[in-house]
Amino acid sequence: MDFAEFAATAAAIDEETADLEIQSLVAETLQEGGDDLATLVRFLLGRVFPAHDSRTLDIGPRLCYEAIARAAGQNVDADDVETRLAELGEIGAVAASYDFGGQQGLAAFGDGSRETLTVAEVESRLRELAAADGAGSQETKLDVLFGLFNRCSDDEARYLARLVLAEMRIGVGGGTVREAIAEAFDVSVESVQRALQLSNDYGLVAETAQDGGEDGLAEIHLEIGRPVQAMLAQTGTVSGALDDWDRVGVEVKYDGARVQVHYDGEEVTLYSRNMEDVTEPLPEIVATVEERVDVPVILDGEVVAVDDEGSPLPFQQVLRRFRRKHDVAKAQEDVALRLHAFDCLHADGEDLLGAPLVERHDRLVAAFDGEKSSEVSKLWLCEDAETIEGIETDALAGGHEGIMLKQPDAPYTPGKRGQNWRKRKPDVETLDLVVTGAEWGEGRRASVLGTFELSVRAGDGYETIGKVATGITDEQLADVTDLLEPYIVAESGTDVDIDPAVVFEVGYEEIQSSPTYSSGYALRFPRFLSIREDKAPADADSLARVERLVETGDD
Ligand code: AMP
Repeated sequence: MDFAEFAATAAAIDEETADLEIQSLVAETLQEGGDDLATLVRFLLGRVFPAHDSRTLDIGPRLCYEAIARAAGQNVDADDVETRLAELGEIGAVAASYDFGGQQGLAAFGDGSRETLTVAEVESRLRELAAADGAGSQETKLDVLFGLFNRCSDDEARYLARLVLAEMRIGVGGGTVREAIAEAFDVSVESVQRALQLSNDYGLVAETAQDGGEDGLAEIHLEIGRPVQAMLAQTGTVSGALDDWDRVGVEVKYDGARVQVHYDGEEVTLYSRNMEDVTEPLPEIVATVEERVDVPVILDGEVVAVDDEGSPLPFQQVLRRFRRKHDVAKAQEDVALRLHAFDCLHADGEDLLGAPLVERHDRLVAAFDGEKSSEVSKLWLCEDAETIEGIETDALAGGHEGIMLKQPDAPYTPGKRGQNWRKRKPDVETLDLVVTGAEWGEGRRASVLGTFELSVRAGDGYETIGKVATGITDEQLADVTDLLEPYIVAESGTDVDIDPAVVFEVGYEEIQSSPTYSSGYALRFPRFLSIREDKAPADADSLARVERLVETGDD
């Protein structure tokens, strides 16, 4: 396909505002793509390389202005181009506003003969440009780019400039291309979507749909060395997860940086969350995988910086390591890194994206020498809030960020911020509540009070709103018991009534209407935070504040 045809199509799409019309225009263009289809798709999306490819053109605005200026003639320099950009507001319009093609013999491809540019040639020149490295690379890039601009008509220049600066902006996004591929080659959107998730390459998927249809798309698999988009998490609550799922998968939320590990049995490649190759800066993670993993795998995990005792350091330390390109050995001495792998996308020739989390986790454990290792993040399966709370308390005490809640039966959905992974929302509000009752503990804890009934102030009295049993250490339980015992007014079995005297600061996830307590409300997932020694019951929070919190979410 001639580059002029691509430019004309881009211009037509650019002018169209209706989404469906844009989709049809893209679909029609794809049908005419032929051998250039993959490139055409990428160009329409404003990219030269597929998303999984770490290569970049690395053309700064100034270099682009320079190339445009050179092609525009001797009286134009990069500053003029920049001035015109300030006037016109967008680089495509600037490039289109000059008359190119008159600059003879200034570069290998800029002979001014206006030999027809093709999509394939533009792509191959840009690849050549991306490969330029080291001393003189800027000059090479300038030459190549100038050579291209020098052969451009207005529209060609408009879209070339936008393409090389990654500012295509013609209204064609991934969603449009996905639908257009399905429309153009009569395949299902789902199969296109699946192939995109696995390959991260719109060009490849379009080409496969064209050549092999639905069957061809089904043959697209994960490939070791080709990163996929990371599955993402939403915020959520423990109570919500317990309501929605039979069992809740709970993991520590590590405070580090995401890493995708690709191991083909010999070589390890590491990718960041943005699918950049970060193998070089992280040699100890490479060594860990080589040493510990037996089979070819694709793993998902978090890399954490640790101090000499192995305690986590702030995540900025990890990011510093990720960006480090020189003196890696020195950086390694300064900050040690640990891998916490939490998912397994592929093992030993088998794609596992569709398998439930528990199965993927089993495969993860198996991949690490078949035994539980410190590199494998533990997955707990929980059915009650107390257990989850315990895990969270330990995670926070261990210096981690918190916990993740995961649906144990859910597949791995690349790039999706769905409900199947939830990061527990930190408490936004706390309430100061009066202790009006308690229960004696059992067994080892028979001599201390364990579960505490909490009340809000209401008129002259108090109304119950919940019970708290979690978040208190054994030591605190003994102190609290000493504090409350003098106020016990009645006992029945292990239950005691307590005169209002002591105020607890309590965190919670949510307040719900509930007939269980006399206030008409119940706290979901309440946690003891502290004893408000500075507060008397008369200073505790009122029912009116609770009502305001329920109505507005804040007060
Ligand atoms: P956030 O960055 O706050 O959206 O939280 C999601 C991020 O937490 C993920 O992208 C991971 O980098 C990180 N993370 C830490 N531990 C885990 C875990 N066990 N499971 C999933 N993600 C985790």
